[in-house]
Amino acid sequence: MTDRYAVIGNPIAHSKSPQIHAAFARLTFQDLTYEAILAPLDGFERAVRDFAAAGGRGMNVTVPFKLEAHALAGTCSPRAEAAQAVNTLIFSGNGIQGDNTDGVGLVADLTRNLGLDLAGKRILLLGAGGAARGVLLPLLEQQPAQLHLANRTADKARSLRDEFVARAGACPLEAGGFDELAGGQFDLVINATAASLADEAPPLPAGLYAPGSLAYDMVYGGETPFMAAARAQGAARQADGLGMLVEQAAESFFLWRGVRPPTAPVLAQLRGA
Ligand code: NDP
Repeated sequence: MTDRYAVIGNPIAHSKSPQIHAAFARLTFQDLTYEAILAPLDGFERAVRDFAAAGGRGMNVTVPFKLEAHALAGTCSPRAEAAQAVNTLIFSGNGIQGDNTDGVGLVADLTRNLGLDLAGKRILLLGAGGAARGVLLPLLEQQPAQLHLANRTADKARSLRDEFVARAGACPLEAGGFDELAGGQFDLVINATAASLADEAPPLPAGLYAPGSLAYDMVYGGETPFMAAARAQGAARQADGLGMLVEQAAESFFLWRGVRPPTAPVLAQLRGA
């Protein structure tokens, strides 16, 4: 019987996940379907349980339900616990398991697709929402010299840092507002804010980009306002988050199917489209 998977969110019509997983299934000869489910804002748990009861094997979870998915999962992987957010659900005889593949997806895109070695690097992570939360642990596992978290609402970045350090222990993690960044220099600046969706760039002080630095926007779909501002301010390279999207999907696919799909042809296909 064909296995069923889905992505659930609100809104969901824009999602590229059905296209990505259909391509993975074709390339790995897996017999599965993957659909997009729009859940009412107050109806996430019902929609998940209905899909599982109808024979669903797993789901991806997107905005705004990643925290609810963490609460719903009976057991969670260490990386989902560290993030307190879940983007992948696995349904089995053991109940609902939760995982978070956003961070490994980002690291895979940075290291494999973009050829960056993160060890010893100075990293600036902008934002303190679900996306930033999900990538903290996988970024720190790469042993950067420094990871600085900066957010428009500075107290939110500080709370996230304190909460993370209380759970994970001592690590080179600093936090504050955008204005406190003046005078700093970074090898990698990751935009995990939603600013690009509002056609804006986070207001960063000049001089942040070290020679050879990369500016990475988790938002995808061509050059974003953040990428344009980074280029103007001297970042050597800019990248959008399409590679992260494909890599996090590949990790979810692996969790469900035990097979690692090739990502390069799928990324090339999406870029071509
Ligand atoms: P959240 O709503 O949880 O957090 C939004 C964050 O963006 C907050 O830190 C908020 O700051 C900040 N922000 C919003 N608007 C602005 C602005 N105009 N200027 C500066 N900061 C702003 O969203 P998520 O963390 O879940 O997602 C963030 C982005 O990452 C989204 O655009 C999403 O599409 C993308 N993403 C991409 C993925 C991929 O695979 N490529 C995976 C996951 C996310 P404040 O606290 O001050 O409100």
